[in-house]
Amino acid sequence: MFSRRWRNLIGLIVFVLPLVAGCELLSHFTRNNQEHTEKEPLTGAPGKHSFRLGQFIFLADFEIRKDHPLFKDLGSLREQVNRELRLPSSQREVWVYLFEDKARYEKFMQTKYRDLPIRRAFFVVQPRRLGGAEDLNVYTYLGDNIHQDLRHELTHALLHCSLKNVPIWLDEGLAEYFELPTSQQGVNVKHVEHMHQMNAKFDLVRLEKLQDVHQMTSVEYRESWAWVHMMLRTTPQAKQALLNYLHDLRNNPNLPALRPRLVNAIPSVSPELAVQSHLGELGRQALRNTNVR
Ligand SMILES: [Zn+2]
Repeated sequence: MFSRRWRNLIGLIVFVLPLVAGCELLSHFTRNNQEHTEKEPLTGAPGKHSFRLGQFIFLADFEIRKDHPLFKDLGSLREQVNRELRLPSSQREVWVYLFEDKARYEKFMQTKYRDLPIRRAFFVVQPRRLGGAEDLNVYTYLGDNIHQDLRHELTHALLHCSLKNVPIWLDEGLAEYFELPTSQQGVNVKHVEHMHQMNAKFDLVRLEKLQDVHQMTSVEYRESWAWVHMMLRTTPQAKQALLNYLHDLRNNPNLPALRPRLVNAIPSVSPELAVQSHLGELGRQALRNTNVR
């Protein structure tokens, strides 16, 4: 069951086919539809209906309402991310599989990606079995968080379209920053409150050593977000350090750590003190907004 809020996203669900039929339908669909290029079929994934939104191709087993406000917002995400991070735009296709419920999504993910932790949504760079380019796939299901989750995963996809590599902490920090509605300017009030309550500590050296998705708990997600927010929203020098790093990641997948660049960019204060003080300011802002309401 999906919430009432997201029911409007769906047109008529014609009928439900056995999961195994999915790949046949997808093959059939891609052969007969000139809208997008051929793709390796994905057994068990939705594929009866699809539509393209720029470089994003949404696939589902229900009819998708293309005029839903969700898609208008997602249509502007690419420009927002590329403009703010000064990334070149890419036409590389991103395949977005929308499952109609959590059970089908989890069954698929547990079958295909046994080693991944359980999350509401995933971005996966999928090597093709027959060789050639990799597919960029996003998986999620209709639920209350679908808008935020899609913004998060599609941010990962956009980064991977332009960059040769993205360190995992930075990948998650940027996705957490852009997952919020544009009007929030990247401020995640829940993260701010949580970090204050937990008296969060900051350690970019530790964060930059993380290599594996399993090492990223909610603590690391929040800390990564705070670093990104500090760099993008405090001083032009801190922002430039991040933009230069991203620029270099366009050609070099093995860059050394970002922290020394940040030390050079803001020499008057340690990066850890800068992010701590930025979080304090965000906390005071959140408090003022609460009092005003
Ligand atoms: Zn993520």
